[in-house]
Amino acid sequence: MLIRVAVPVPQLGLLTYRVPEGVPPPAVGARVVVPLGARVVTGIVVGDEKSSDLADGAVKPIRDVLDDEAFVPADVIALAAWTAEYYAAGVGETLTAVLPPKARGSRVDAHKTLRVAAITAAGLGALEAKRGRGSFSDPKIEANGGREPLPGVGAKTIPVPFSLTPKQLDVLELLAGTPAGIPTPELAERGFAADTIARLAKHAFVTLRHDRVNRDPFTPQTYEAASPEQDRRLTAEQAGALDRLTSLAATRGFRVALLHGVTGSGKTELYLRLAASVRQGGRNALMLVPEIALTAAVVSLFRRTFGDRVAIQHSGLSDGERHDQWQRIRRGDIDVVVGTRSAVFAPLGKIGLVIVDEEHDGSYKQEESPRYNGRDVAIVRAQHAGALVVLGSATPSMESYYNAVSGKYERVVLERRVLDRPLAAVAIVDMREEYAAAGPDTILSRALTAAVQLRLGRGEQSLVLLNRRGFATAVFCRQCAGTLECPNCSVSLVVHGEGSAPRARCHYCNYSIRVPTKCLLCAGPYLEQTGFGTERVEAEVRRLCPEARIARLDRDAVRRKGSLDSLLSRFRDGAIDVLVGTQMIAKGHDFPRVTLVGVISADVGLGLADFRASERTFQLLTQVAGRAGRGEHPGEAIVQTLYPTHYSVQLACRQDYPAFYEREVHFRRSMRYPPFVSMVNVIVRARTFAGAMDDAADIVQQLRAAEAESVFRVLGPAPAPLGKLRGEYRAQLLIKGTNRKRMREALMSVLAARPDLARRTVVDVDPLSVL
Ligand code: ADP
Ligand code: ZN
Repeated sequence: MLIRVAVPVPQLGLLTYRVPEGVPPPAVGARVVVPLGARVVTGIVVGDEKSSDLADGAVKPIRDVLDDEAFVPADVIALAAWTAEYYAAGVGETLTAVLPPKARGSRVDAHKTLRVAAITAAGLGALEAKRGRGSFSDPKIEANGGREPLPGVGAKTIPVPFSLTPKQLDVLELLAGTPAGIPTPELAERGFAADTIARLAKHAFVTLRHDRVNRDPFTPQTYEAASPEQDRRLTAEQAGALDRLTSLAATRGFRVALLHGVTGSGKTELYLRLAASVRQGGRNALMLVPEIALTAAVVSLFRRTFGDRVAIQHSGLSDGERHDQWQRIRRGDIDVVVGTRSAVFAPLGKIGLVIVDEEHDGSYKQEESPRYNGRDVAIVRAQHAGALVVLGSATPSMESYYNAVSGKYERVVLERRVLDRPLAAVAIVDMREEYAAAGPDTILSRALTAAVQLRLGRGEQSLVLLNRRGFATAVFCRQCAGTLECPNCSVSLVVHGEGSAPRARCHYCNYSIRVPTKCLLCAGPYLEQTGFGTERVEAEVRRLCPEARIARLDRDAVRRKGSLDSLLSRFRDGAIDVLVGTQMIAKGHDFPRVTLVGVISADVGLGLADFRASERTFQLLTQVAGRAGRGEHPGEAIVQTLYPTHYSVQLACRQDYPAFYEREVHFRRSMRYPPFVSMVNVIVRARTFAGAMDDAADIVQQLRAAEAESVFRVLGPAPAPLGKLRGEYRAQLLIKGTNRKRMREALMSVLAARPDLARRTVVDVDPLSVL
């Protein structure tokens, strides 16, 4: 028998293997161990193969079958196959990318087991006898000095009772109160040593069993950290929206709804109630959130309604936790899955609702192959399942809003914050004026400094956003005008860590050196650090507010597992007054005590030659302003910028999404950008600059020859904006057109003819950024 197997190798299609005689055919979706060249890898069975072009002997046999039943359900295999094709990736790499990491390895016994001791009937009898008689002993044993019976003595006819030590009696007493048993580690904690239990077990007063443990990543601490329960009534707007959404879900057909609700309008509450109503109809819900940091709060909310039938899937879990959660979902023990991007492939059955919260968020896009967008795959999954998709956002992506306006999606709007809380009042500070008045080194404007100090005095919290990490963004030589660059990448090194041993680091390849005291090019001593990032802002807030408790939240600050959760819960608990950070602080969080949001350099992203620069800036500013004033006290936002008149800044400050959309859609239409055309971004990597450009030119030429009917246009070749990365030179070309399938097929056929080039080519379908 021949089977088709997806193996974890980039760009590779399905491979054919033979199931040896006598081995039962593995189920579709089961994991199998197969030889691949000189290696042995774990693959997924995708289906039968009727026949193979290869001679019989050339088809290699599988080595092992790891699962008796499907590890990956058939619908998830189909979804992965769709994803692979759409995003021009291999099926194998796509399938393995979605599995929990442990499942990719060899034979898995990822279950942790726990020894549990439980009292037996004999044990209960012994206790009773002891209680009844005051002591439980046997003359024969007394005669033996109370020790265990000697071998052979009296063992023939009646079982020899065994004299129980006080300790043993205590354990039995304890176990008698918990018939299901108590895990031995817990007993050990209470002072009952393993050998005490082992002895009791040997004599059948207790049994020992191994329970499978589901490593539950959900720590009680995050459970409690969620805001206190209130028996709240939906606002009229929320109730109307819920009605619409429930009736859409009740059609049990594929529908897409865009829930456009301003920040703080209570979207999460709607997700919860909608999921509950779908569950009542016997179907399950899948909810995607953009950040690992947001899962805990959402899960704790869902657990109040669904108990432990809520699972989490994200890459921050340990391999074991993730595996256990996967297994629970697969076995049907779960009603709701909450997770980040890859959770869209969770093995959840009977899906009736798919929620994509903050659907505009860039982190739904995976920046390595398969370069899928979790939101778009979620829509396809719902389509396959006949489910309702709810795309929620205060700042919908241009694509989604366009689809809502054109009637392809249902549009559900929440225009007001719950309890009629006002949106934050936003003030713009023109930094050109500020520099003139307060000096060119100003980081926090006078207005922002005063506002932070006011919050400190009132015991309220502030967020300060700068979407750029590090202390200084470049090291500049005043003698030769050179900057310190990464030797592997065409970017300048960023200074991290003020104080004694600052280092200059590449944000792309992680290369780092100690910050030199002399210029590496001209040996001149006049090195100057220019530009600033979050670390510098943090230091500046400390200098201005020495009494404040300040913390920083960016990727550098939360490298350790768990540090992000603990930082967020300290902030929530009020142990931090000012939180400085990158866009990580802007996302979705609900911190009721934040009344001030400061934005340093609102225009960080605006200078970029990226067609989404304005959209991203608008979203970031609107979202971060939306973090203020979510509790009882009204919020204020102070936005510092050098471009106070730019429409992204202006309209974000007015929180006027429709006006922004009108403005932006005009630009997209006239410049032929999404949502009016589709794009494929192609990057060719090579050892030399000329090599990259030549190969890119070759692709361009062949594509142009194939575009006879002009269903697409090719731009390029050109040096990529990031011209060198990790030692390789990069050239770029862009394909724009309305027929995505034709674009992809033309490109794939060019690449198929040159496998060596294909391996060096990055294909990004629906790129979020072309930089
Ligand atoms: P969004 O996701 O739209 O920004 P959230 O769902 O986080 O908003 O809701 C904002 C805050 O309002 C949360 O603290 C939430 O618990 C609270 N909330 C939601 N609905 C109601 C309601 N009907 N009455 C009172 N408070 C509500
Ligand atoms: Zn580098």
